Amino acid sequence: MEDVVIIGGGVCGCSLLYALSRYKVRAVLVEKENDVGDGASKANSGIVHAGYDPEPNTLMAKYNVEGNRLMYELCGALDVPCKKTGSVVVGFSEGERKNIQELYDRGIANKVPGLKIIEQDELRRLEPHLSKTALFALYAETGGVVSPWEFASAQAEAAVTGGGEVQLDTEVRGIRKEAGHFVVETNRGNIEARFVVNAAGVYSDVISRMIEPLHFTIHHKRGQYYLMDPVTSSLANTVIFQCPNEKGKGILVAPTAHGNLIVGPDSETVKGDNRANTAAGLAFVREMALKSVPEINFSQSIRNFSGVRADSDMKDFLVGESKDVPGFFNIAGIKSPGLTSSPAIALDVVRMLGEAGLVLDANPKFVATRRVKRFKHMNAEERRKAVAENPLYATIICRCETVTEGEIVDALKRPLPPRSLDAVKRRCSSGMGRCQGGFCGPRVLEIISRELGIPVGDIPQDRAGMYIVSGVTKEPK
Ligand SMILES: Cc1cc2nc3c(=O)[nH]c(=O)nc-3n(C[C@H](O)[C@H](O)[C@H](O)COP(=O)(O)OP(=O)(O)OC[C@H]3O[C@@H](n4cnc5c(N)ncnc54)[C@H](O)[C@@H]3O)c2cc1C
Repeated sequence: MEDVVIIGGGVCGCSLLYALSRYKVRAVLVEKENDVGDGASKANSGIVHAGYDPEPNTLMAKYNVEGNRLMYELCGALDVPCKKTGSVVVGFSEGERKNIQELYDRGIANKVPGLKIIEQDELRRLEPHLSKTALFALYAETGGVVSPWEFASAQAEAAVTGGGEVQLDTEVRGIRKEAGHFVVETNRGNIEARFVVNAAGVYSDVISRMIEPLHFTIHHKRGQYYLMDPVTSSLANTVIFQCPNEKGKGILVAPTAHGNLIVGPDSETVKGDNRANTAAGLAFVREMALKSVPEINFSQSIRNFSGVRADSDMKDFLVGESKDVPGFFNIAGIKSPGLTSSPAIALDVVRMLGEAGLVLDANPKFVATRRVKRFKHMNAEERRKAVAENPLYATIICRCETVTEGEIVDALKRPLPPRSLDAVKRRCSSGMGRCQGGFCGPRVLEIISRELGIPVGDIPQDRAGMYIVSGVTKEPK
């Protein structure tokens, strides 16, 4: 019997599994896809929000501000790419001054440190490429950027090393309560547990309905993006938001944790987890972004992508034990700032599980820190040492991002080995550059196949079924 089953391996599920790994708890995370961090957690803006946006006295406000602090702490400890760049919310007309003041006041109420309203001169010194029509801004010292998918996988890997368990390709299809414990029915058999935590993102309402009466409904809201070549990254030093007004929240322009520039997202209601890009959505993103940074040259875009928000009919996040089914917990309706909030949500759910009777004795195997070798960021001496220790570090596989064979093989040997081309990309950044894997893709396929003993034809681009090699065209001589 497990103590806790966590349904969903996004940042919320992975943060919870990691937080639980501090204790001697039998916890298993089940994820329907072939990797963690594959839902909204891989397709978002990657912003560490400061916390001035949520309404005061909401869970969103509380978790955002605490999550912001924890995010920098955890990323430092687990070696996840993350940078405290600061953020600005820019006003373009005197009419927007009251909106900026409102955000400032909300931030103060939410106890966000390092907030100030800055005027045009200071704003231009901070962001020289900002449009001349930018007049003033709310500056937040604690805003920043993070690699969201690495935040998920780093915590999952550390949790597994510490004794936690992750079951991939495992879809929850039913939940029932039997003699004081839960039976979680999956495509790979049943799992019995004392507690169940629903962290299923855009499907959290579907999971909730398996065991409790209908309380909430998730609405799917897609956001589309441009990811720009790293040569454009100097166009934004901080996260540049537009002042929210009656027309919406605006479009952001920001550096990414990997040194690109990200532009987006729009917001459109879609049916289900529909991540298609549309010409109209992207045109809107382009037009709005140029208002902030007119120099963006969209021919330097290297990729478009979109993510789907788990918007809901609730005004706030839903985090806590079900009123109807004791022992069943929801982490639901986790739209933005859910990434930033996730580590704080996890700590709070651990506290609630403790109050509900989960014994929380310290786990001596808890992994508090880890280091990942990234050849691109090593100096000459470090590179020489890495190659001397492992000659695979002398072979560059991804030329755009300077990723070596050694890094890919190391990732494949860690707990939770990536089993698709994109999962390797999410661990090592291979294929993230200008050619988007055009050159390194076939070589990465061969390395995965060699190291994990999977035939090349069985390795998907990303999710199951997205196969790259469909058959043999010519037998080797
Ligand atoms: C466009 C966009 C921009 C955003 N920008 C930001 C931002 O800049 N900063 C910020 O803080 N937040 C941002 N967010 C919000 C943030 O991305 C989400 O709140 C966060 O990723 C949610 O994490 P999660 O773990 O709840 O859900 P997910 O990451 O979606 O994970 C849920 C997981 O559950 C799995 N699952 C579902 N059903 C089942 C089942 N039956 N059995 C097993 N597994 C199942 C899914 O496969 C998925 O992997 C943004 C979101 C979007 C979409």
